[in-house]
Amino acid sequence: MYSIHHEPHFSNRNNWLRATVLGANDGLISTSSLLMGIATANASTQTLVLTGVASLIAGAISMAAGEYVSVSSQSDTEKADLDKEAFELEHNAERELTELTMIYKNRGLDDELAEKVAIALTNHNALEAHARDEIGLSHTVTANPLEASFASAGSFVLGALLPVLCVWLLPKASLVVGFSVVTLLGLGLLGMLSAKLGGAKIVPAVVRVVLWGVVALVATGLIGRIFGVEVG
Ligand SMILES: [Zn+2]
Repeated sequence: MYSIHHEPHFSNRNNWLRATVLGANDGLISTSSLLMGIATANASTQTLVLTGVASLIAGAISMAAGEYVSVSSQSDTEKADLDKEAFELEHNAERELTELTMIYKNRGLDDELAEKVAIALTNHNALEAHARDEIGLSHTVTANPLEASFASAGSFVLGALLPVLCVWLLPKASLVVGFSVVTLLGLGLLGMLSAKLGGAKIVPAVVRVVLWGVVALVATGLIGRIFGVEVG
């Protein structure tokens, strides 16, 4: 008997939205700070555009691949667990009932009640009862890995587009300010959104994510300045 702690990926609407917010966060921070480093090293506009677009595409593909692999392996694991459980139920019904009874006893029910509950739930839907109370799966429908990877890639692109648009729309002299404003504002809004979705307090969530944005921008800005001076 073993149990698995599942990260709930996309298992309901809320998780979809939270994953989308995280993807956008990622796109915004990584592309902005990369462009900040290049901009403070005095790169040409052409280099900045190329860097921004390359970062956007590379990041989107990386997010898609990561999400695809993660959701696929999660659903493989769940499927294997359920298959194993279904096999056991078919071939070892008695032992499975004892197992379920023990689970409820360990959760605090007395012997008689634990057995009653185990029998009732086994009659109702044995596989569901084992999936939920033994393996810890609350629902047996897993996410589609392709859908999950498109959602992650798409939200990364949305986040990365903000600094790329800065390069297109702003004069070169105001890029450093532009990246900072767009990134910190964007991160603040995304932090607010994710706090709302997760039912968390808004101010600490916003402060946290904005601080990380500042760290990323300052770090890459300094690196660009140091190496830009040396090279140029
Ligand atoms: Zn079982």
